[in-house]
Amino acid sequence: MDQTKFILNEKDMPTAWYNILPDLPEPLPAVLHPGTGKPIGPDDMAPLFPMDIIMQEFSPQQYIDIPEEVQNVYRLWRPTMLYRARRLEKALDTPARIFYKYEGTSPAGSHKPNTAVAQAYYNKKAGIKRLATETGAGQWGSSLAFACALFGIELKVYMVKVSYQQKPYRRIMMETWGAKCVPSPSQDTNAGRGILAKDPDSSGSLGIAISEAIEDAVTSKDTKYSIGSVANHVLLHQTVIGQESMKQMEMAGFYPDIIVGCVGGGSNFGGMFLPFVKDKIKGKRKDLRIICVEPASCPSLTKGAYCYDFGDTAGMTPLFKMHTLGHTFMPPPVHAGGLRYHGMAPIICHLYQMGLVEARAVPQVATFEAGITFARTEGFVSAPETNHAIRVAIDEALKCRETGQAKTILIAHSGHGHFDMAAYDQYLSGQLTDYEYPEEKVKEALAGLPKVG
Ligand SMILES: *Cc1c(COP(=O)(O)O)cnc(C)c1O
Repeated sequence: MDQTKFILNEKDMPTAWYNILPDLPEPLPAVLHPGTGKPIGPDDMAPLFPMDIIMQEFSPQQYIDIPEEVQNVYRLWRPTMLYRARRLEKALDTPARIFYKYEGTSPAGSHKPNTAVAQAYYNKKAGIKRLATETGAGQWGSSLAFACALFGIELKVYMVKVSYQQKPYRRIMMETWGAKCVPSPSQDTNAGRGILAKDPDSSGSLGIAISEAIEDAVTSKDTKYSIGSVANHVLLHQTVIGQESMKQMEMAGFYPDIIVGCVGGGSNFGGMFLPFVKDKIKGKRKDLRIICVEPASCPSLTKGAYCYDFGDTAGMTPLFKMHTLGHTFMPPPVHAGGLRYHGMAPIICHLYQMGLVEARAVPQVATFEAGITFARTEGFVSAPETNHAIRVAIDEALKCRETGQAKTILIAHSGHGHFDMAAYDQYLSGQLTDYEYPEEKVKEALAGLPKVG
């Protein structure tokens, strides 16, 4: 029998998240206060997050128990399926074995609820009644709306105005789960009103939306802020993906030679590879290759500078040591909205710097070509973000066809593309184009990096 999917029982679901911090060969660079240039501590973050989350951000503990209440919600869709992509292998005529871990079965359709549920739980536990957050195309906003509905927390989402107008379906999804969603810049905050006064037609940006959400959180009663990627605690919560995948690859009888995933802020792929990179750090799997895939038009790892920068466009966050294109950089409007971020998770940058993971940048049209091949063989219509991972997996499988090597490739499949049919339509009708790497704009943005030390 050609086994196609590897199924874990609910009782095999991980009961703890894996924390990479104590296993790093060198400690992660400190997060700095932009005013003093000194490392920030838990108290500095208290206006934004509940203490349980802050402690996880800095935790020296290798495993952190997943609360029973969070596990109970995870059980709605976890453990997720691991598939062997037999039809794709056949279509590529490759000796490679291709597997994919599919996160598209969560209620919101991606990996993001893995952290949204945990964050909603810890806020509820701390007596928080309301959360504020930002969202680009709506993947994060809808995931947090789902989680807040289950824990009885109010949610206000500042959604980048151009997406709010052009992509109404995720907004309607957020409202279905009871969240309030406004186009950003909005009249509801000083930050928003300031921008609108200067430019009434501003189409918004993720940076502006973050500024509005943070202002809302620090000025409203019983309200905190919630972030969907980049932060250590977000990657931590996502490690359920990698831990399940390890067990499932064991069931399949293979250990991956190559793991590939897309990186925007780095949370889905970090969640996948962190439990595996531990094997590489400990010398058990020295040859394991881990490939982070980013858009050629927003290449933080492959073209960015490794230095301290703000997490948001407005410069309201602390300073993170990361690969960055400059916090004022506005990435071209590729359809993979979740990959349009100027920086990258500090944990991933640190591992990249140490040579433990590699990175590759791919142009947009080639990613859709890969997504179509995947849909026509495996059936699943993938998110434009995920298509980046599929592109590189296919390229690696084609190399195996040349060399005759039967490598095992594992794809982190972050979500479905059911809300992205307009993008597929553009590709199918030959209208989709590539964006050049905007070298001049990156130079400009890098010139505006904050001075540290
Ligand atoms: C948000 C999103 C991403 C990118 O975010 P990461 O934090 O890098 O994982 C990738 N895929 C999908 C489907 C997303 O919704």
